[in-house]
Amino acid sequence: MITKQDKKQDLLDYRYLRMARIWAENSYCQRRQVGALVVKNKMIISDGYNGTPSGFENICEDEAGVTKPYVLHAEANAITKLARSGNNSEDSTLYVTASPCIECAKLIIQAGIRRVVYGEKYRLTDGIDLLERAGIEVEYKEL
Ligand SMILES: [Zn+2]
Repeated sequence: MITKQDKKQDLLDYRYLRMARIWAENSYCQRRQVGALVVKNKMIISDGYNGTPSGFENICEDEAGVTKPYVLHAEANAITKLARSGNNSEDSTLYVTASPCIECAKLIIQAGIRRVVYGEKYRLTDGIDLLERAGIEVEYKEL
């Protein structure tokens, strides 16, 4: 049964996901732009988009157009940003425009994030599988 509460949450999920998609526009990566938001108690406590670490040039790809190995994913940027803030991600929800990879899934688990809402499926599902194994609620919403 779909309750009024579920409907409200569904609407909020779509709004945050759309905000994450707008946030992805900050990314200077050419191949792909991904955005993420961490929401806790109805507050956005962190945000991220894919890009190189602070202090590095704002170029994600090498001359051959291949993504550099040190580019951080949106989820990793959002979670590590929290590590430098007074906030924490325990029991929060992560909104991300693309399906999390396995490396980000590990960070999501360890960050205590309780729920993940993502907006784009990927052929590899190992990240999603790992999140589900850890008991994290994972939801796909078509953007
Ligand atoms: Zn990732």
